[in-house]
Amino acid sequence: MTESDLKFRVNMIAVGDELLEGRTADTNSGRIQRALGQHAVQVVGIQVVPDTKEAIHTALQRTAAGDIVFMTGGLGSTPDDLTRDMVASWAAVELIQDDEVRRQLEQRWAKLGRKAGVGVHRQCQVPQGMTALTNPVGSAPGLVGRLKDRILVMLPGVPDEMIGLLPLVMQWLGEQGYLPAARQILLWRTGQIAELALVRKLDDIRSAHPRLHWSWWLTEWGVDVRLAAEPGHIEAQAQLAAVNDPVTAALGHLVYSRRMETLPEVVQKMMIERGLTLSVAESCTAGMIGAKLTDLAGSSAFFKGGILAYSNDIKQELLGVPAEILEEHGAVCGPVVQAMAEGAKQRLGTDFALAVSGISGPDGGHVDKPVGTTWMAVAGPEKTFTQVYRFPGDRHRNRMLTVASVVDSLRRSLEFGSDQSPWRSGDSWCTPASGRTK
Ligand code: AMP
Ligand code: MG
Repeated sequence: MTESDLKFRVNMIAVGDELLEGRTADTNSGRIQRALGQHAVQVVGIQVVPDTKEAIHTALQRTAAGDIVFMTGGLGSTPDDLTRDMVASWAAVELIQDDEVRRQLEQRWAKLGRKAGVGVHRQCQVPQGMTALTNPVGSAPGLVGRLKDRILVMLPGVPDEMIGLLPLVMQWLGEQGYLPAARQILLWRTGQIAELALVRKLDDIRSAHPRLHWSWWLTEWGVDVRLAAEPGHIEAQAQLAAVNDPVTAALGHLVYSRRMETLPEVVQKMMIERGLTLSVAESCTAGMIGAKLTDLAGSSAFFKGGILAYSNDIKQELLGVPAEILEEHGAVCGPVVQAMAEGAKQRLGTDFALAVSGISGPDGGHVDKPVGTTWMAVAGPEKTFTQVYRFPGDRHRNRMLTVASVVDSLRRSLEFGSDQSPWRSGDSWCTPASGRTK
């Protein structure tokens, strides 16, 4: 096989009984796809197969000459781990003891103050013609090489071990010339808009540029829009360049990033750059906002803490929400989230505070406040803004949308200026009865 025989087709095989029994979801294949990133490969199939010789053999048979084949799972040392044996027998090559792998594994165990276990014998076996890549995370090495005219990559099933090996695999594939050039890709990450509303905004631009490959998908933080042109398609590449500004203008303030970073990453960077601090007062999300904002290392530089005010007593006692407001309007209203945010900001001594109070469901809704009704407040250094949303989901989705929307409202507040409302007319899920300021 020469390099020109490569089709840059990727075939994935995830091996493991647990993947077919609903005990474990196949997350490895998606991880590999993300690692392949912008390289113009075509993933032609993902096969999920049980730990049997026949199934693994059949899956290998279904790949084609020239494919890059990623296999995960079944590389351990228990009797159900059959991947390396089956690759060797399918390609009609021997399994060879790799002394370098043995040395590294023994060294690893020695560092832990132990001797290598009986499993080490299996872990040193490499199908002839393949190379072992040392695992920076766990003990199981990755195996890469060319067998039967395929580029084979065998990785352990444990996600952390697999992820640890991916940069080495990508480096190896690149060095061997097995990866095509990067595809030109444009990305817009948007928040606080429903998928269909976003797609509609782009209708005119899309129909004017049919040669581009458009895709969009829901994320934890909103909707991503991606545009790609295949390398070599001069016309498509020119269209891609021409479409950048119109799409950016059409999406406007909805865009929180043009790169593959999350909304909390964006907010954390902005807060730290400006030396600002944040606290939260959470009712219906009960800590989810704080948890998401502290997922990233370094968050303590801006996030001070929060009050998880699920009950009215806590809203009154720890946040100073006046009892009369709670009695008159209930816990889900503008004045309550305003008092919650201002209470948190003052008591926790921060520049900004976020507050949420809503009816996530399935119970608790009524005619004027149906399930999904959620009030939010963003308190900045001078002003507090409140907004009511009507989320359309079930309990889980409504809470997720609450977290994403309030964090994005903070992002907008930082972008627009904290003396301005973070909301604009036409925002999905927002209802007109809002925008109250103090
Ligand atoms: P194995 O390498 O087959 O011994 O797999 C070890 C563990 O990794 C399994 O018990 C699963 O919990 C996990 N695992 C295996 N394959 C996958 C996969 N495709 N996606 C996510 N987790 C996996
Ligand atoms: Mg397994």
